[in-house]
Amino acid sequence: MSIRRLPSELINRIAAGEVVERPASALKELVENSLDAGASSIVIRLAAGGLDLVEVTDDGWGMAPDEMRLALERHATSKLPDDQIEQVASFGFRGEALPSIASVARLTLDSRLRGGADEAVGGWRIEVDHGVAAGAAPQALPPGTRVRIEGLFDKVPARRKFLRSPRAEYAACIDAVRRLAMARPDVGFSVEHDGRRTLSVQPSDAPTRVAALLDRELERHGLGIDCLRDGLRLTGVVSLPTFNRGMADHQYLFVNRRPVKDRLLVGSLRAAYRDLLARDRHPIAALFVEVPTSEVDINVHPAKTEVRFRDPSAVRGLIVGGLRAALEEAGHRSVARKQFVSPVNWTSAGPTLPAGVGRGEGPSVDDQYRLQSHALPNPSREREGLPGVREGRADFAPFARAEVASAPVPAFPLGVARGQVAATYIVAEAEDGLVIVDQHAAHERLVLERMRRASAGGEVARQALLLPDVVEMDEPECDRLEGAAAELALLGLEIERFGPSAMLVRATPAPLGKTDVPGLLRDLAAELAELGTALALRDRLDHVAGTMARHGSVRAGRILSVAAMNALLREMEVTPHSGQCNHGRPTWIKLAHGDIEKLFGRR
Ligand code: ADP
Ligand code: MG
Repeated sequence: MSIRRLPSELINRIAAGEVVERPASALKELVENSLDAGASSIVIRLAAGGLDLVEVTDDGWGMAPDEMRLALERHATSKLPDDQIEQVASFGFRGEALPSIASVARLTLDSRLRGGADEAVGGWRIEVDHGVAAGAAPQALPPGTRVRIEGLFDKVPARRKFLRSPRAEYAACIDAVRRLAMARPDVGFSVEHDGRRTLSVQPSDAPTRVAALLDRELERHGLGIDCLRDGLRLTGVVSLPTFNRGMADHQYLFVNRRPVKDRLLVGSLRAAYRDLLARDRHPIAALFVEVPTSEVDINVHPAKTEVRFRDPSAVRGLIVGGLRAALEEAGHRSVARKQFVSPVNWTSAGPTLPAGVGRGEGPSVDDQYRLQSHALPNPSREREGLPGVREGRADFAPFARAEVASAPVPAFPLGVARGQVAATYIVAEAEDGLVIVDQHAAHERLVLERMRRASAGGEVARQALLLPDVVEMDEPECDRLEGAAAELALLGLEIERFGPSAMLVRATPAPLGKTDVPGLLRDLAAELAELGTALALRDRLDHVAGTMARHGSVRAGRILSVAAMNALLREMEVTPHSGQCNHGRPTWIKLAHGDIEKLFGRR
């Protein structure tokens, strides 16, 4: 065995494996350098998703020629003047990005110092071709720095093989820029891809920047966050549960203004929405966590996208607690009306499209609230002079008539039940409009919240069955249920093993009311299989409570009495999170009087 020191060229290559995985990671390093150099404007040019060209030009303080040479050496950095790695505030500090990139591409570094006498030194250009110096000469330049990377991984087939299409690489590039642009709203950014301008933002404040870069829709379906806890601060914006995505790709998380993709933070975000969203749906978020630098270690991974907190549970508590409180406060907020005025077919000889209704943009959620407070003509007087509307329609098939309105409508936010449509939707009249409730979605939510309240106070009350129920099931299913019997008992479900392939049910959770016991057990067995044992007991209980709620709730297709409908509406009004079902769909929608007028072209 002969041990030897590796040549620096090879060391750089090895480091490149960690720091530059793909064009987007090289781009991220360059933009971070520009930000660290005090740039106020950063111009990015890409070709073929960055595979052919990544170029970053900044108006930062630039470098002198000898600094440029040093910058291309490994572990050379200007960012740790006192060797205080614990307190680093810049993006960079490891001094390995430029030499790593230069070892796997053609790199052109242009720079000129900014300010006074320094500027007079003039610009300089250094070229490096796959780790080999390829020229250095004066260059006419404005103050600042430009780094150009061409043919990334051209000579590293192993790496090149793992690159995706230019399109996918471009998507990763723009994602990296968005994250940094959100982190630094005070800096202007522009991106040009294959000659086309694809992003451009001016310096602004944080909320404006976030709004410019996130889904525009978030302005109306978002929730501003600002909370403080134990010296930690959380700000930003998250989507209402009803506004979600099939992928977790619109989640922008920052720690002390550094973009991160940290498991703890992602998990906390997920936990805050638990049971407000189906497991395969994801919220949109831009969240900024601020912690004292002594409380966090960013030197965990060369790409610096993971962090380690000294007190992870405090951070988790801040996020889950803060978001949970905000979501709770948003309470019944459901969706904007856009989704429910659209079924009207405007193309067939219908009235011309009133502004703000139908296709495209409906009024915002806030408009909805504003509309609700409009002074409106007395509804009961308006109803007169509409012959045939109330008479002779009682047997109109899908519309079970409930109650004839005559007295003024009491001021319940969700109104008074007027009937049921298709045995699935409750139609109610509120002071300010027409409310439609999905009875199953709403009831499922209420039952879950009841279960929650009950379990928060200790064990959920049980309702003993007069005769224990025997449910035949597969042996593995029985094993799973038997294993979870103690947990299930906490939720009010009392079961025992009954032979190899049956379970005996002695009591069901009282908040569920009358339930289909075999169906409940089967779903629970499936749920337990899926959850495995990875989750903490509390989390498991919460999932299981959701499954139970599904069984205790009023099904679609059940005819409800007027009293039952009104009771449901009143309970919704006082129950947290009743605006969305356990899967993130809305439970109710409201057509304000103004909306109805617009639909009829009266406004
Ligand atoms: P790090 O950012 O970790 O220090 P890099 O390899 O990315 O390491 O950069 C090395 C050094 O080059 C930096 O410390 C900085 O002094 C200088 N540098 C890099 N990019 C720029 C830039 N755009 N403007 C001014 N100086 C830069
Ligand atoms: Mg750097």
